[in-house]
Amino acid sequence: SMVRCQGVCHDPARTLDRVFVQVEGNVGTNHDVELAFENGADGIGLLRTEQLYLARDLPPTEDELFAELRAATAPMHGKPITIRLLDVGGDKPLSFLRLTAASNPALGRRGVRLLLEYPELLRTQLNAVLRLSREQEIRVLVPMVTLEEDISAIRDVFESSLAALGISERPPFGAMIETPAAALGVAAIAKHVDFLSVGTNDLAQYTLAAARDDPAVNRYYLDDHPAIFRLLSIIAADAGRTPVSMCGELAGREEVIPQLLAIGFRSLSVAPTLIPRVKALIRGLRLDA
Ligand code: PEP
Ligand code: MG
Repeated sequence: SMVRCQGVCHDPARTLDRVFVQVEGNVGTNHDVELAFENGADGIGLLRTEQLYLARDLPPTEDELFAELRAATAPMHGKPITIRLLDVGGDKPLSFLRLTAASNPALGRRGVRLLLEYPELLRTQLNAVLRLSREQEIRVLVPMVTLEEDISAIRDVFESSLAALGISERPPFGAMIETPAAALGVAAIAKHVDFLSVGTNDLAQYTLAAARDDPAVNRYYLDDHPAIFRLLSIIAADAGRTPVSMCGELAGREEVIPQLLAIGFRSLSVAPTLIPRVKALIRGLRLDA
């Protein structure tokens, strides 16, 4: 089902009634980034940084991270890139952190929860990302936000890193919305950010109470369940003027894209191979119908 990118797929995707929908790529490796660019991505909506950490015995230094992020993002040739802070913990342990095994990893110390417990790990990443923002259009995204305090605490470190580095042109700062509490409490979270990005993979797992990687409960893991669409409508309404994008798998599912646009989403980040199809589909839709 792979569609090759012909010239037109590099053009912006507009609906028949001329509404622009941003189509970006979800990436984890340098190869993904190249593919996203070749397939006409308007940018990178989600750069997962876990690969830069998982295979190491020692945490990467700020200089190493900077160099690796710079190499990873270079193939986008200046298009905007959303770098997500490290989303590990729980089932993805880091060898250099001695984390005790959680009884229920998905409900344990992961994402932002872990970053707040390891300030050095957070500071090193933010510094590397902010240094890169001097030469590229970067956005910073915080994973697994549940409480308003999660995002306000990271925001404080973000501001202090900006000040320490003497950076006055601040990159957009955003929160992932991927827990039911974050979806229902989006108005409070939105006060601290420039943008939001919905992670439907985790949102489905936590809403349907079914692990995303457990085949035994596969039939409960429904990211297009009506409960998810209710939450998406709440997010879109309660985010107010804060832009909301979507970077979970749901964003790339052709049968639901008309519904996502009707709810108000205007920015979708999908697997690089899906970009041409998603853009083609959007070009055939009429929103005011
Ligand atoms: C998500 O949860 O939907 C998401 C995009 O993040 P990840 O799949 O990396 O958890
Ligand atoms: Mg997630």
